[in-house]
Amino acid sequence: MQRTVILSNGVSMPLVGLGTYKTRGCDLIFSVVKAALEAGYRSFDTAAVYRNEKELGEALHHYLPQFNLSREDIFITSKLSPSAQGYDESQAALEVSLSNLQLSYLDLYLIHWPAAAKLKPEDPRNREVRAGSWAGLEAAYKRGRVRAVGVSNYTVTHLQELLDQTSFTPHVNQVEYHPHYLQKGLKSFCENEGIHLQAYSSLGTSLQSSPLLQDPTICHLANKLTCSPAQLLLRWATQQGVGVLPKSTSASHIRENIHLDFDLSEKDLATLSNLGISHKYAWDPSSVL
Ligand code: NDP
Repeated sequence: MQRTVILSNGVSMPLVGLGTYKTRGCDLIFSVVKAALEAGYRSFDTAAVYRNEKELGEALHHYLPQFNLSREDIFITSKLSPSAQGYDESQAALEVSLSNLQLSYLDLYLIHWPAAAKLKPEDPRNREVRAGSWAGLEAAYKRGRVRAVGVSNYTVTHLQELLDQTSFTPHVNQVEYHPHYLQKGLKSFCENEGIHLQAYSSLGTSLQSSPLLQDPTICHLANKLTCSPAQLLLRWATQQGVGVLPKSTSASHIRENIHLDFDLSEKDLATLSNLGISHKYAWDPSSVL
């Protein structure tokens, strides 16, 4: 049985989902979805900018009946492209994602990035544009096109600005979060506001040799606990109630990444939370006004 988190509106979301950034092409998506469903994944994370929604929709349509699963058994997240920010544009973009995925509703829809594609990060018009997108997502939520809505790559400043403008609080903030990039302030802000913090790039992105997976302390601790460094990183997050979205195109890694049925001691959790390294591996939204 998969661990889940209950979002502030009562919707249940699996704590482990399959990341699909850079997973493209029909054959690859079909094999990844099959391996993931076999391994017990019930949650999939995509985005308009990943350009794989259509293949993911086809693969799920194909495999769900084979695994005796229905639409309600799975949780699908997609994200608004920075090129579709705005009130009308965000609702139109959601309809395109739904059509690509062959769905009548999404489980979670996120504003992917706090800036608009055509604006520089320091352009103050980003504030207005993302406020419009958020109002568009609220309207879509109220129409039942999506069961939960949220943001991604929002800093405390972006979240505070949003909360000052509306009483409709995001259910999720999806951000980079791992022992090399702790974001303690953002995590406690989200906890206080009832926003679920979901981690991306838990394994250090798809870099050729991930400094996270090769960190000597992480490798040593994983060895001691007879788990893999990837499992250790994923359990470190989920044990704190933080959702994770490990991305893999390897069936054995896909299986490994969801087998997190062990607990870390307080001491081991603290060791990982105090590595003393601060490095962001993905894009940094802190310069976005
Ligand atoms: P991850 O941090 O999940 O790392 C993926 C890499 O780790 C791949 O190279 C993969 O290789 C490797 N890997 C996976 N499992 C294992 C394992 N058990 N042992 C060793 N290596 C492993 O990368 P992402 O940056 O893609 O983040 C995950 C997901 O988060 C994305 O796919 C996307 O869905 C989401 N995301 C969201 C962002 C946002 O802006 N909202 C930004 C970035 C990511 P292999 O395929 O060979 O297993």
